Amino acid sequence: SVKNRVALITGSTSGIGLGIAHVLAEAGFHITLHGLLPMPEGEALAAELRDKYGCKSSFSNADLRAGDAIAALVGDAQDALGSVDVLVNNAGIQFTAPAQEFPPQQWDAVIGVNLSAAFHTIHHTLPAMQAAGWGRIINIASVHGLVASVNKAAYVAAKHGIVGLTKVVALENVERGITCNAICPGWVDTPLIARQIQQQADAGNLDYDEARLALITGKQPMPEMTQPSSIGQLVLFLCSDAARTMTGTALPIDGAWTAQ
Ligand code: NAD
Repeated sequence: SVKNRVALITGSTSGIGLGIAHVLAEAGFHITLHGLLPMPEGEALAAELRDKYGCKSSFSNADLRAGDAIAALVGDAQDALGSVDVLVNNAGIQFTAPAQEFPPQQWDAVIGVNLSAAFHTIHHTLPAMQAAGWGRIINIASVHGLVASVNKAAYVAAKHGIVGLTKVVALENVERGITCNAICPGWVDTPLIARQIQQQADAGNLDYDEARLALITGKQPMPEMTQPSSIGQLVLFLCSDAARTMTGTALPIDGAWTAQ
């Protein structure tokens, strides 16, 4: 049962993470929201969840580039709401350039937020999940955890890395009631993608909708973006009892991007 279970969702002030937070809150989870917002704005988002769904909620703006901040993020979530039963590693950033031009500090930032931060949150949440004999770890990877695209060296490396991390954590916890899975979305309708569309529109002198369709169909056979709430529904299924033997997987939700 999801009753009184607590979910910590990193990067949940926007986009996919916020979509997941709404679906889980509606289903009865208590929620720790997290992201790079000033405390009053983040607290306001957490209050919205409480008002709308009657759940408990808290907010943290720990910067995932700092390992000690991540220990505090997990500790604060456990203190505020009692436990972390579901961990969703969702926060992520993008930077694009060919490898020979890729700024090393951007490589470090993308690997730090998209991969190492997930190791640190898992490292800090597993002991209590193991003691409780129940847990769900869901890593929001990407189709770029399964296949590559040009100019995304750090992102593709981080996402392939998190798929590998997912498998190890799954294997290590098969007898402890804890599953660990990765979700691999194609294009999802979020601010992160809106920024890429606007860049391509400006570069190609296109209007936004033309650039949007060109971006989607350049990679994805189905000419439609996935909605953040659909990722939330998949997370909710992975939290269910029906999914208890589903572990160590990397699940595409990608309009047939990786079917080709
Ligand atoms: P977004 O830009 O809308 O949200 C990113 C979130 O991460 C925000 O809450 C932000 O505050 C947080 N964040 C970023 N840097 C941080 C840091 N240093 N410390 C703490 N928090 C930080 O992005 P989105 O599109 O919702 O993407 C969410 C996840 O889904 C990412 O891991 C992304 O790689 C993945 N993804 C997105 C798509 C897509 O099409 N949008 C596709 C596949 C995978």
